[in-house]
Amino acid sequence: MNPQALIAGGGIGGLAAALACARAGCDVRLYEQAAAFSEVGAGVQLGPNAVRRLHGWGLAQALAAVAAQPGHLCVRNAISGQPLATLPLNPDMAQRYGAPYCTVHRADLHAVLLDALAREGGARLKTACPVRAVRQDGGSVTLSLMSDLDVEGDLLVGADGLWSTVRQHLLGDGAAVPTGHVAYRALAVQQALPAALRSQQVTAWLGPRLHVVAYPVRRGELLNLVAIVQGPPRGDAQDWDQAAVAAELQAAMGETCTAVRDLVQAMPHWRLWMLNARAPVSGPQALVNGRVALLGDAAHPMLPYLAQGAGMAIEDAAELGSLLTMTSAAALDVPLALSRYALNRWQRVARVQARSLRNGRIFHATGAMQAARDGALRLLGRHILDVPWLYAG
Ligand SMILES: Cc1cc2nc3c(=O)[nH]c(=O)nc-3n(C[C@H](O)[C@H](O)[C@H](O)COP(=O)(O)OP(=O)(O)OC[C@H]3O[C@@H](n4cnc5c(N)ncnc54)[C@H](O)[C@@H]3O)c2cc1C
Repeated sequence: MNPQALIAGGGIGGLAAALACARAGCDVRLYEQAAAFSEVGAGVQLGPNAVRRLHGWGLAQALAAVAAQPGHLCVRNAISGQPLATLPLNPDMAQRYGAPYCTVHRADLHAVLLDALAREGGARLKTACPVRAVRQDGGSVTLSLMSDLDVEGDLLVGADGLWSTVRQHLLGDGAAVPTGHVAYRALAVQQALPAALRSQQVTAWLGPRLHVVAYPVRRGELLNLVAIVQGPPRGDAQDWDQAAVAAELQAAMGETCTAVRDLVQAMPHWRLWMLNARAPVSGPQALVNGRVALLGDAAHPMLPYLAQGAGMAIEDAAELGSLLTMTSAAALDVPLALSRYALNRWQRVARVQARSLRNGRIFHATGAMQAARDGALRLLGRHILDVPWLYAG
């Protein structure tokens, strides 16, 4: 009989896990709390490490049809606007790392995964089905759904994001903690922007106590702008979609260069969410217990300073899929496959989490540290911006 895989959460991580598990021969049932798969969110960046996995699932064409492939990453000082360093992205990354560097609307990537699941079959997806509790014994794992229904499977993937219910059943380590950073996001149709503000590149402006990133999504038709500033928590910490206005962001940013000010002003609508974090994963025991595995933000919430939140969730799913494929072929048991998954993944995700945290401190540096940052970027440029262990790994 095929292994029965249960998945909690239908974000990028949950859908990628559903696809990987279905391809590994599992019967998949996925439970998402939201009433419908939503369009909420804006851009996500996908390094070649993640794009390679999507290509490996046969999604190269589907991804290329919705993503953008920016030519360069250009890092600038947010106050002076001066360029500090440049890293060629496309086509260089494909030559060096076997896949392009893509920028994509979260909803478009989500739709690519949903379409692949619908085409291939093997997974049943249920919305409006929040997972309430988890229990396991030696032979199976049981999910209790809000609807008072219990479902049983051979394994459970907790892909239920930053505020994961499955994680609390597994680790009981409490909620993620506020970082004091607030992320504002906006999207604009490029054609509707003044020509000087349109861009097909990734641009990052680093300031004291803030940074701003702009990049194209949806084949380059939209410009995505994210500004991260420091400030007290506001609104519901779990709400990805709080209302915001440009004036409030301008006030929080203080002095910045004209390009940043003009871009912020030109965006038609602003939304915001609070950044919350956890310490990096401390060992394999933090990812798996018996028949339950955590994946994506539920396992290792990523701050957006290395742009690897979606990428690490996709890598997790690919690893899980290949271990489950081996398990079916060799008639191995599920807990063994999951413990392998934890062993293979924990050091890499911990390293990416730690590097993201460190980047946050550097991006927002003040005083002497800021001067040292800018000097190092001017001197070493692409050697600092390129991350071979991450993109090739
Ligand atoms: C609505 C939303 C908007 C986002 N917007 C952006 C953005 O603009 N830019 C960016 O860089 N990142 C954004 N992210 C985060 C980004 O998608 C993730 O960091 C990354 O893709 C890892 O995905 P994940 O699947 O692990 O977690 P998530 O994307 O957080 O997905 C988790 C899923 O689990 C569901 N869930 C939670 N609890 C339960 C439960 N008890 N039972 C069943 N389902 C549950 C959630 O509704 C969600 O669909 C957003 C996430 C969400 C949920």
